[in-house]
This record gives sequence, C-alpha cells and structure tokens, in this order.
Amino acid sequence: MSPTLKIASSSLLRHVYTAGRYVLDIFFPLSCLGCTQSDTLLCQNCCKKIRPRYEQSCPYCRKHLTPHGETCFDCSSKNDLDGVFVAYDYNQPLVDTALHAFKYQSLESLAHPLSKLFVQAVISSGLPLPDCVFPVPLHPWRLRYRGFNQSELLGHALATTLLPGTAVPFDTQSLVRHRFTLPQQKMPNVESRKHNIKNAFSLSKQSTSSLRGKSVWIIDDITTTASTLDACARVLKQAGVHKVFGVVFAQNTFVAHSKRAVKPSSQIQ
Ligand SMILES: [Zn+2]
Ligand SMILES: [Zn+2]
Repeated sequence: MSPTLKIASSSLLRHVYTAGRYVLDIFFPLSCLGCTQSDTLLCQNCCKKIRPRYEQSCPYCRKHLTPHGETCFDCSSKNDLDGVFVAYDYNQPLVDTALHAFKYQSLESLAHPLSKLFVQAVISSGLPLPDCVFPVPLHPWRLRYRGFNQSELLGHALATTLLPGTAVPFDTQSLVRHRFTLPQQKMPNVESRKHNIKNAFSLSKQSTSSLRGKSVWIIDDITTTASTLDACARVLKQAGVHKVFGVVFAQNTFVAHSKRAVKPSSQIQ
C-alpha cells in the first residue's frame, strides 16, 4: 500500500472510530468507573480517594528507599536509568480499573482525569524538572490499533503544566520504537522482558547532537520491571544525554504467571 493510501485509510478508520464512540455515548452514557456517577468516567470524589505513593525506591533492586526513586549506588554502575518516580500504586482498584480501560479499551476521555492526577503527584513530589520530556513511543502498528499513545497524552499534560506560563519541551519525534515487540505482560520473567524489549528503540539522527548533556524524563503509564524505560534510557545515554529519569503513573508488582502477567492476546500493549 502506498504511503498516501496508508494515511487515507488510517484517517478513515479514525473517523469511523470517532463516529462509533459518538453512537456508543448516546446508547451507553458515561458513568464513573468508581461510583457510577453519570457524565464522567472518573468523578472528582473518586479521584480524591486515590492515594499517591509516598515512598519511592530504586527501580532496579527496589530495596533502597530514595527521595524521588533515584537508582541506588549499587545498581547505578550497571544500569542506565537515573531513577523512576512512581505517582501511584497499581494495586488500588480504581487505578487498576482506570488504567486498564484507558489503555486496553481505548477510552481516550480518561486522559483528562488521569493527567490531572499525574500532574498533582509530580508537582507535589518536588522532583527536579528536566530540559525535555519524552513519551515512551508506541510502534506505528500499535498506535494505529489503539488510536492514541497513552504515554504521550500523559506526558503532554505534564510538559504543559509543570512550569507556570510556559511549557517544558515535549519531544514526540526523536525517540522511536522501530521494532514490533510482544506485550511485556506476556513475558514470564524479568530476563525475558529485557530480551523482548532489547534494541526496540532508536533515536533519529537529527536529534542526537541537540540532546548531549541534557536532563530528560521518559513518561510511561505503567511500569513493572522498568525494562521498557531502561531500554529507552540506553539509547538516550548513548547519545550523550546526561540524566534520564522515568516518570510513570503507576507501578505494577511483577508476579510471574499471575492473571496480570498474562493478558488475553487481543490486548495489544
Ligand atoms: Zn466516582
Ligand atoms: Zn538498587
């Protein structure tokens, strides 16, 4: 298929999807995922019940508590991430339900309440601001399937809200996922997750000189073993980035072969 035809068919699918959602909203009006209040997917009262994570720890060993999730001294010599800040724990029922619906049921309207919660947690943490923010990129096939990149929506909210009156540069072009990978949830252990995501990311040539010496954040919705963030950090560090911090909405606890570790095959990450 020619690139023009591909874009046209993708645009047509998007219109069909939007029309479909409009029809669904008429027959199945929105209701809060927590309390069923009408006209919203996540009401303010339910948002207030979601507790931020107060203790942050090294993303690799998780043994050492650090102020913002900085990588501990022991782990820093053999890994690329300088830390991962986690806004919320995934084991709260509403966080689990909302993120699952946002990502796997493509409920894009959850981006607004989830972004608000994300911004609140990051601002109140006092995490030092970066020079630039990157979302974890999706492979183009997954982006076409879902219609949006959930990490990009959350990252955009952060980049445009962190500094009053101005925006932190938000880069959705430089970091690309050039290799299609199986969903990380299907991987039975930490090693297979690392192997699955290895060499999946790269940087566009034009971006490498402008990133040297910078401090950056990589935004993701959920992390489990930090393997995806670590793979992104590797290419950024190789390009001369000084500091790479992951900033994620929630962290899931990795349990091999649990129902959360293996999702149905229709749920594309
Ligand atoms: Zn509610
Ligand atoms: Zn550690």
